[in-house]
Amino acid sequence: MNHRHYQDVDHVHGSVGDVLRLIRVGDSTSRSTLARAIGLAPSTVGLRVDALVELGLVHEVGAEGSRGGRRARRLELDGDAGFVAATDLGANHTRIVLSDLAGRTLADTDHTDTSDPLPRADGPAAAVADLWRRFERLADAAGRSMADFRGAAIGVPAPIAYPSGRIVTPSFEPSWHDVALGSLFAQHTDAPVLVENDANLIALAERSDTEPAERSNLVAVKLGTRIGGGVIAGGRLHRGVGGAAGEVSHTAVEGSAAIGCTCGVPNCLESVASGGAIIARLRAAGHDIASTSDLLRLGAQGDAAVVEELREAGAMIGRVLAGIANFFNPREVVLAGAMSASPPLVAAIRSELYRMCLPLVADDLDVRASRVPRDAGIRGGIVLALDEVLAPARIDELARQATSVDDLQVRSA
Ligand SMILES: [Zn+2]
Repeated sequence: MNHRHYQDVDHVHGSVGDVLRLIRVGDSTSRSTLARAIGLAPSTVGLRVDALVELGLVHEVGAEGSRGGRRARRLELDGDAGFVAATDLGANHTRIVLSDLAGRTLADTDHTDTSDPLPRADGPAAAVADLWRRFERLADAAGRSMADFRGAAIGVPAPIAYPSGRIVTPSFEPSWHDVALGSLFAQHTDAPVLVENDANLIALAERSDTEPAERSNLVAVKLGTRIGGGVIAGGRLHRGVGGAAGEVSHTAVEGSAAIGCTCGVPNCLESVASGGAIIARLRAAGHDIASTSDLLRLGAQGDAAVVEELREAGAMIGRVLAGIANFFNPREVVLAGAMSASPPLVAAIRSELYRMCLPLVADDLDVRASRVPRDAGIRGGIVLALDEVLAPARIDELARQATSVDDLQVRSA
Protein backbone atom coordinates (compact mmCIF):
# COMPACT_ATOMS: atom_id res chain seq x y z
CA MET A 1 0.00 0.00 0.00
CA ASN A 2 1.29 3.43 -0.92
CA HIS A 3 1.25 5.70 2.11
CA ARG A 4 2.16 8.81 0.22
CA HIS A 5 -0.58 11.35 0.67
CA TYR A 6 -2.19 12.48 -2.55
CA GLN A 7 -2.42 16.03 -1.27
CA ASP A 8 1.37 16.25 -1.45
CA VAL A 9 1.59 15.07 -5.05
CA ASP A 10 1.83 17.69 -7.78
CA HIS A 11 -1.01 17.73 -10.24
CA VAL A 12 -1.62 19.46 -13.55
CA HIS A 13 -2.62 23.10 -13.16
CA GLY A 14 -6.15 23.60 -14.40
CA SER A 15 -7.00 19.90 -14.26
CA VAL A 16 -10.39 18.49 -13.18
CA GLY A 17 -9.07 18.15 -9.63
CA ASP A 18 -7.74 21.70 -9.68
CA VAL A 19 -11.16 23.02 -10.68
CA LEU A 20 -12.74 21.13 -7.77
CA ARG A 21 -10.16 22.60 -5.39
CA LEU A 22 -11.10 26.14 -6.47
CA ILE A 23 -14.79 25.36 -6.06
CA ARG A 24 -14.12 23.93 -2.58
CA VAL A 25 -12.26 27.00 -1.30
CA GLY A 26 -15.14 29.10 -2.60
CA ASP A 27 -13.12 31.74 -4.47
CA SER A 28 -14.38 30.75 -7.91
CA THR A 29 -17.89 29.43 -8.05
CA SER A 30 -19.04 30.06 -11.61
CA ARG A 31 -17.70 28.77 -14.90
CA SER A 32 -16.54 32.26 -15.91
CA THR A 33 -14.73 33.06 -12.63
CA LEU A 34 -13.08 29.62 -12.80
CA ALA A 35 -11.87 30.30 -16.34
CA ARG A 36 -10.40 33.64 -15.23
CA ALA A 37 -8.77 32.13 -12.12
CA ILE A 38 -7.15 29.28 -14.06
CA GLY A 39 -6.37 31.19 -17.24
CA LEU A 40 -7.80 28.57 -19.59
CA ALA A 41 -10.47 28.95 -22.27
CA PRO A 42 -14.03 28.89 -20.86
CA SER A 43 -14.81 25.91 -23.12
CA THR A 44 -11.92 23.90 -21.61
CA VAL A 45 -12.95 24.79 -18.06
CA GLY A 46 -16.53 23.89 -19.02
CA LEU A 47 -15.42 20.35 -19.90
CA ARG A 48 -13.68 20.03 -16.52
CA VAL A 49 -16.83 21.19 -14.73
CA ASP A 50 -18.92 18.74 -16.78
CA ALA A 51 -16.60 15.92 -15.69
CA LEU A 52 -17.09 16.90 -12.03
CA VAL A 53 -20.88 17.04 -12.51
CA GLU A 54 -20.79 13.58 -14.11
CA LEU A 55 -18.75 12.23 -11.19
CA GLY A 56 -21.51 13.56 -8.92
CA LEU A 57 -19.05 15.78 -7.07
CA VAL A 58 -20.39 19.16 -8.17
CA HIS A 59 -23.83 20.56 -8.84
CA GLU A 60 -25.04 23.93 -10.06
CA VAL A 61 -27.38 25.96 -7.91
CA GLY A 62 -29.37 29.23 -8.12
CA ALA A 63 -28.07 32.39 -9.67
CA GLU A 64 -24.89 34.13 -8.64
CA GLY A 65 -25.40 37.84 -8.09
CA SER A 66 -27.98 39.77 -10.12
CA ARG A 67 -26.14 42.38 -12.13
CA GLY A 68 -28.35 41.82 -15.13
CA GLY A 69 -27.38 39.93 -18.23
CA ARG A 70 -27.13 36.17 -18.30
CA ARG A 71 -27.60 34.48 -14.95
CA ALA A 72 -24.40 32.71 -13.86
CA ARG A 73 -25.15 29.49 -12.02
CA ARG A 74 -23.16 28.90 -8.86
CA LEU A 75 -21.10 25.72 -8.68
CA GLU A 76 -21.04 23.84 -5.39
CA LEU A 77 -19.36 20.73 -4.07
CA ASP A 78 -22.10 18.11 -3.60
CA GLY A 79 -21.65 17.05 0.02
CA ASP A 80 -23.89 14.02 -0.54
CA ALA A 81 -21.40 12.49 -2.99
CA GLY A 82 -19.84 10.52 -0.14
CA PHE A 83 -18.67 10.73 3.44
CA VAL A 84 -15.49 10.44 5.51
CA ALA A 85 -14.78 9.43 9.10
CA ALA A 86 -12.47 10.96 11.68
CA THR A 87 -11.46 9.12 14.83
CA ASP A 88 -9.76 10.46 17.92
CA LEU A 89 -8.11 7.63 19.84
CA GLY A 90 -7.33 8.88 23.33
CA ALA A 91 -5.70 7.06 26.22
CA ASN A 92 -9.14 5.94 27.39
CA HIS A 93 -11.75 7.13 24.93
CA THR A 94 -12.72 6.68 21.28
CA ARG A 95 -14.49 9.47 19.45
CA ILE A 96 -15.80 9.04 15.91
CA VAL A 97 -17.34 11.69 13.67
CA LEU A 98 -18.76 11.05 10.20
CA SER A 99 -18.88 14.03 7.84
CA ASP A 100 -20.25 14.53 4.35
CA LEU A 101 -17.87 15.76 1.65
CA ALA A 102 -18.82 19.39 2.37
CA GLY A 103 -17.72 19.02 6.00
CA ARG A 104 -21.19 18.74 7.53
CA THR A 105 -21.38 16.38 10.52
CA LEU A 106 -23.52 13.27 9.95
CA ALA A 107 -22.78 11.44 13.22
CA ASP A 108 -20.76 12.08 16.37
CA THR A 109 -20.09 9.56 19.15
CA ASP A 110 -17.68 9.60 22.06
CA HIS A 111 -17.19 6.47 24.15
CA THR A 112 -14.98 6.13 27.17
CA ASP A 113 -13.36 2.77 27.67
CA THR A 114 -15.59 2.12 30.66
CA SER A 115 -18.79 2.34 28.59
CA ASP A 116 -17.68 0.80 25.28
CA PRO A 117 -14.03 -0.20 25.22
CA LEU A 118 -12.06 -0.50 22.02
CA PRO A 119 -10.19 -3.82 22.33
CA ARG A 120 -6.71 -2.26 22.21
CA ALA A 121 -4.92 -5.00 24.14
CA ASP A 122 -6.13 -7.65 21.64
CA GLY A 123 -3.79 -6.16 19.05
CA PRO A 124 -4.18 -3.44 16.44
CA ALA A 125 -6.01 -5.62 13.87
CA ALA A 126 -8.79 -6.40 16.38
CA ALA A 127 -9.07 -2.71 17.25
CA VAL A 128 -9.25 -1.78 13.55
CA ALA A 129 -11.97 -4.40 12.93
CA ASP A 130 -13.89 -2.96 15.88
CA LEU A 131 -13.46 0.59 14.56
CA TRP A 132 -14.68 -0.50 11.13
CA ARG A 133 -17.85 -2.00 12.70
CA ARG A 134 -18.39 1.30 14.51
CA PHE A 135 -18.11 3.19 11.18
CA GLU A 136 -20.69 0.80 9.68
CA ARG A 137 -23.12 1.22 12.59
CA LEU A 138 -22.81 5.02 12.53
CA ALA A 139 -23.24 5.19 8.74
CA ASP A 140 -26.33 2.99 9.01
CA ALA A 141 -27.79 5.21 11.74
CA ALA A 142 -27.09 8.29 9.57
CA GLY A 143 -28.83 6.67 6.59
CA ARG A 144 -25.62 6.35 4.57
CA SER A 145 -24.33 3.34 2.68
CA MET A 146 -20.75 2.15 3.24
CA ALA A 147 -20.49 2.16 -0.56
CA ASP A 148 -20.21 5.95 -0.14
CA PHE A 149 -17.34 5.72 2.36
CA ARG A 150 -14.45 7.71 0.85
CA GLY A 151 -11.76 7.65 3.54
CA ALA A 152 -10.79 8.34 7.13
CA ALA A 153 -8.22 9.94 9.40
CA ILE A 154 -7.26 8.50 12.78
CA GLY A 155 -5.68 10.83 15.35
CA VAL A 156 -3.44 9.23 17.97
CA PRO A 157 -1.46 10.77 20.85
CA ALA A 158 1.93 9.59 19.60
CA PRO A 159 4.50 10.57 16.96
CA ILE A 160 3.70 9.14 13.52
CA ALA A 161 6.54 8.33 11.17
CA TYR A 162 6.03 9.97 7.79
CA PRO A 163 5.36 8.84 5.13
CA SER A 164 5.08 5.23 6.41
CA GLY A 165 2.27 6.12 8.85
CA ARG A 166 3.80 3.92 11.56
CA ILE A 167 3.08 4.77 15.19
CA VAL A 168 6.23 5.50 17.23
CA THR A 169 6.47 4.67 20.98
CA PRO A 170 2.78 5.22 21.79
CA SER A 171 2.36 5.68 25.54
CA PHE A 172 -1.41 5.07 25.20
CA GLU A 173 -0.77 1.49 24.01
CA PRO A 174 2.96 0.53 23.98
CA SER A 175 2.27 -2.73 22.11
CA TRP A 176 1.23 -0.67 19.05
CA HIS A 177 4.77 0.59 18.51
CA ASP A 178 5.78 0.46 14.81
CA VAL A 179 2.24 -0.49 13.72
CA ALA A 180 0.96 1.00 10.44
CA LEU A 181 -2.63 1.30 11.61
CA GLY A 182 -3.90 2.76 8.33
CA SER A 183 -2.82 -0.20 6.23
CA LEU A 184 -4.73 -2.59 8.54
CA PHE A 185 -7.92 -1.07 7.13
CA ALA A 186 -7.06 -2.58 3.72
CA GLN A 187 -8.94 -5.76 4.64
CA HIS A 188 -12.10 -3.65 5.01
CA THR A 189 -11.78 -0.93 2.37
CA ASP A 190 -9.79 0.35 -0.61
CA ALA A 191 -10.36 3.93 0.55
CA PRO A 192 -7.43 5.80 2.13
CA VAL A 193 -7.17 5.72 5.93
CA LEU A 194 -4.55 8.12 7.27
CA VAL A 195 -3.04 8.07 10.75
CA GLU A 196 -1.87 11.36 12.20
CA ASN A 197 -0.49 12.76 15.43
CA ASP A 198 -3.33 14.36 17.44
CA ALA A 199 -1.58 17.73 17.89
CA ASN A 200 -0.96 17.92 14.13
CA LEU A 201 -4.71 17.52 13.65
CA ILE A 202 -5.38 20.32 16.17
CA ALA A 203 -3.00 22.54 14.17
CA LEU A 204 -4.95 21.75 10.96
CA ALA A 205 -8.27 22.58 12.63
CA GLU A 206 -6.92 25.89 13.95
CA ARG A 207 -5.70 27.12 10.57
CA SER A 208 -6.91 30.66 10.00
CA ASP A 209 -10.34 31.06 8.47
CA THR A 210 -10.04 34.84 8.12
CA GLU A 211 -6.95 35.12 5.95
CA PRO A 212 -5.90 33.04 2.94
CA ALA A 213 -4.88 29.57 4.12
CA GLU A 214 -1.43 29.85 2.54
CA ARG A 215 -0.61 32.74 4.90
CA SER A 216 -1.44 30.72 8.00
CA ASN A 217 1.61 30.14 10.23
CA LEU A 218 0.91 28.70 13.63
CA VAL A 219 2.11 26.43 16.38
CA ALA A 220 -0.55 24.36 18.17
CA VAL A 221 0.22 22.84 21.55
CA LYS A 222 -1.90 20.13 23.13
CA LEU A 223 -1.69 20.39 26.92
CA GLY A 224 -3.08 17.30 28.61
CA THR A 225 -1.69 14.50 30.69
CA ARG A 226 1.14 14.79 28.19
CA ILE A 227 2.21 17.57 25.80
CA GLY A 228 2.10 17.50 22.01
CA GLY A 229 2.69 20.04 19.27
CA GLY A 230 1.90 20.64 15.61
CA VAL A 231 3.07 23.23 13.07
CA ILE A 232 1.29 24.90 10.15
CA ALA A 233 3.78 26.65 7.85
CA GLY A 234 2.46 28.58 4.86
CA GLY A 235 -0.96 26.97 5.33
CA ARG A 236 0.33 23.40 5.20
CA LEU A 237 0.93 20.88 7.94
CA HIS A 238 4.71 20.78 8.39
CA ARG A 239 5.72 17.21 9.27
CA GLY A 240 9.48 17.53 8.75
CA VAL A 241 11.50 14.79 7.08
CA GLY A 242 10.27 11.88 9.18
CA GLY A 243 7.08 13.13 10.86
CA ALA A 244 8.64 14.42 14.09
CA ALA A 245 8.12 18.16 13.50
CA GLY A 246 6.28 19.85 16.35
CA GLU A 247 7.52 17.51 19.10
CA VAL A 248 8.22 20.48 21.38
CA SER A 249 7.56 18.39 24.45
CA HIS A 250 10.93 16.65 24.42
CA THR A 251 13.06 19.77 24.81
CA ALA A 252 15.28 19.65 27.90
CA VAL A 253 14.24 22.22 30.55
CA GLU A 254 15.47 23.41 33.96
CA GLY A 255 13.71 21.32 36.57
CA SER A 256 13.52 17.66 37.32
CA ALA A 257 11.40 14.93 35.79
CA ALA A 258 8.38 13.77 37.79
CA ILE A 259 7.30 11.11 35.29
CA GLY A 260 9.17 8.88 32.88
CA CYS A 261 9.38 9.57 29.15
CA THR A 262 10.49 7.27 26.36
CA CYS A 263 12.25 10.08 24.45
CA GLY A 264 15.60 9.71 26.20
CA VAL A 265 16.11 13.46 26.71
CA PRO A 266 16.82 14.03 30.41
CA ASN A 267 14.26 16.31 32.09
CA CYS A 268 12.27 16.91 28.92
CA LEU A 269 9.38 19.41 29.07
CA GLU A 270 6.78 16.63 29.12
CA SER A 271 8.39 14.78 32.03
CA VAL A 272 8.72 18.04 34.03
CA ALA A 273 5.74 20.27 33.13
CA SER A 274 2.92 18.15 31.64
CA GLY A 275 -0.38 17.58 33.47
CA GLY A 276 0.87 14.09 34.33
CA ALA A 277 4.11 15.49 35.79
CA ILE A 278 2.27 18.09 37.91
CA ILE A 279 -0.08 15.38 39.22
CA ALA A 280 2.84 13.10 40.07
CA ARG A 281 4.67 15.88 41.92
CA LEU A 282 1.60 16.89 43.94
CA ARG A 283 0.80 13.27 44.79
CA ALA A 284 4.36 12.75 46.01
CA ALA A 285 3.81 15.75 48.28
CA GLY A 286 0.71 14.06 49.74
CA HIS A 287 -2.09 15.71 47.68
CA ASP A 288 -5.10 13.60 46.75
CA ILE A 289 -5.06 14.17 42.98
CA ALA A 290 -5.72 11.53 40.34
CA SER A 291 -6.51 13.29 37.05
CA THR A 292 -6.22 16.50 35.04
CA SER A 293 -9.83 17.32 35.99
CA ASP A 294 -8.82 17.23 39.68
CA LEU A 295 -5.96 19.56 38.79
CA LEU A 296 -8.28 21.97 36.96
CA ARG A 297 -10.80 21.95 39.80
CA LEU A 298 -8.22 22.60 42.55
CA GLY A 299 -6.54 25.25 40.41
CA ALA A 300 -9.88 27.01 39.94
CA GLN A 301 -10.52 26.83 43.71
CA GLY A 302 -7.20 28.60 44.28
CA ASP A 303 -5.41 25.75 46.11
CA ALA A 304 -2.06 27.46 46.73
CA ALA A 305 0.19 24.45 46.13
CA VAL A 306 -1.67 23.50 42.94
CA VAL A 307 -1.64 27.05 41.57
CA GLU A 308 2.09 27.34 42.29
CA GLU A 309 2.76 24.10 40.38
CA LEU A 310 0.61 25.28 37.46
CA ARG A 311 2.46 28.62 37.33
CA GLU A 312 5.88 26.99 37.36
CA ALA A 313 4.91 24.50 34.66
CA GLY A 314 3.38 27.32 32.58
CA ALA A 315 6.60 29.35 32.80
CA MET A 316 8.64 26.37 31.56
CA ILE A 317 6.25 25.73 28.68
CA GLY A 318 6.30 29.47 27.85
CA ARG A 319 10.11 29.55 27.72
CA VAL A 320 10.25 26.57 25.34
CA LEU A 321 7.56 28.16 23.14
CA ALA A 322 9.43 31.50 23.13
CA GLY A 323 12.45 29.79 21.56
CA ILE A 324 10.19 28.24 18.96
CA ALA A 325 8.39 31.54 18.28
CA ASN A 326 11.73 33.35 17.81
CA PHE A 327 12.83 30.72 15.35
CA PHE A 328 9.57 30.29 13.44
CA ASN A 329 7.87 33.71 13.78
CA PRO A 330 4.29 32.36 13.82
CA ARG A 331 1.14 34.47 13.74
CA GLU A 332 -0.47 32.33 16.43
CA VAL A 333 0.40 29.97 19.25
CA VAL A 334 -2.77 28.01 19.94
CA LEU A 335 -3.23 26.19 23.24
CA ALA A 336 -5.55 23.17 23.27
CA GLY A 337 -6.13 20.03 25.32
CA ALA A 338 -7.66 19.61 28.77
CA MET A 339 -5.04 21.70 30.60
CA SER A 340 -5.61 24.70 28.29
CA ALA A 341 -8.72 25.30 30.43
CA SER A 342 -6.48 26.17 33.41
CA PRO A 343 -6.26 30.01 33.79
CA PRO A 344 -3.09 29.99 35.98
CA LEU A 345 -1.28 27.67 33.55
CA VAL A 346 -2.31 29.64 30.46
CA ALA A 347 -1.52 33.03 32.08
CA ALA A 348 1.99 31.82 32.98
CA ILE A 349 2.58 30.47 29.46
CA ARG A 350 1.46 33.76 27.89
CA SER A 351 3.47 36.07 30.10
CA GLU A 352 6.67 34.02 29.87
CA LEU A 353 6.29 33.59 26.12
CA TYR A 354 5.87 37.34 25.51
CA ARG A 355 8.62 38.19 28.02
CA MET A 356 11.14 35.89 26.36
CA CYS A 357 10.55 36.48 22.67
CA LEU A 358 11.84 39.19 20.37
CA PRO A 359 9.72 42.36 20.04
CA LEU A 360 9.62 41.79 16.27
CA VAL A 361 8.12 38.35 16.94
CA ALA A 362 5.84 39.44 19.82
CA ASP A 363 4.33 42.31 17.79
CA ASP A 364 2.61 39.92 15.37
CA LEU A 365 2.02 37.08 17.81
CA ASP A 366 -1.37 36.05 19.17
CA VAL A 367 -1.28 33.48 21.98
CA ARG A 368 -4.79 32.11 22.29
CA ALA A 369 -6.86 29.19 23.43
CA SER A 370 -8.33 26.85 20.84
CA ARG A 371 -11.59 28.09 19.30
CA VAL A 372 -13.03 24.60 19.75
CA PRO A 373 -11.05 22.97 22.58
CA ARG A 374 -13.14 19.80 22.71
CA ASP A 375 -13.48 19.42 18.95
CA ALA A 376 -10.18 20.65 17.47
CA GLY A 377 -8.57 17.21 17.11
CA ILE A 378 -11.56 15.54 15.52
CA ARG A 379 -12.22 18.52 13.21
CA GLY A 380 -8.60 18.39 12.10
CA GLY A 381 -9.19 14.73 11.26
CA ILE A 382 -12.13 15.67 9.03
CA VAL A 383 -10.00 18.37 7.34
CA LEU A 384 -7.18 15.87 6.70
CA ALA A 385 -9.53 13.17 5.38
CA LEU A 386 -11.39 15.57 3.07
CA ASP A 387 -8.17 17.14 1.76
CA GLU A 388 -6.93 13.64 0.95
CA VAL A 389 -10.14 12.29 -0.57
CA LEU A 390 -10.68 15.44 -2.65
CA ALA A 391 -6.98 15.98 -3.48
CA PRO A 392 -6.61 17.18 -7.10
CA ALA A 393 -4.41 14.19 -8.05
CA ARG A 394 -7.02 11.73 -6.71
CA ILE A 395 -9.88 13.52 -8.50
CA ASP A 396 -7.85 13.60 -11.74
CA GLU A 397 -7.41 9.82 -11.41
CA LEU A 398 -11.18 9.34 -10.84
CA ALA A 399 -11.91 11.45 -13.93
CA ARG A 400 -9.44 9.42 -16.02
CA GLN A 401 -11.04 6.15 -14.89
CA ALA A 402 -14.54 7.45 -15.65
CA THR A 403 -13.42 8.57 -19.13
CA SER A 404 -11.87 5.20 -19.95
CA VAL A 405 -15.03 3.41 -18.75
CA ASP A 406 -17.04 5.67 -21.08
CA ASP A 407 -14.66 4.82 -23.94
CA LEU A 408 -15.10 1.10 -23.31
CA GLN A 409 -18.89 1.47 -23.27
CA VAL A 410 -18.79 3.45 -26.52
CA ARG A 411 -16.61 0.83 -28.19
CA SER A 412 -18.68 -2.13 -27.01
CA ALA A 413 -21.99 -0.44 -27.98
ZN1 LIG B 1 10.35 13.28 26.57
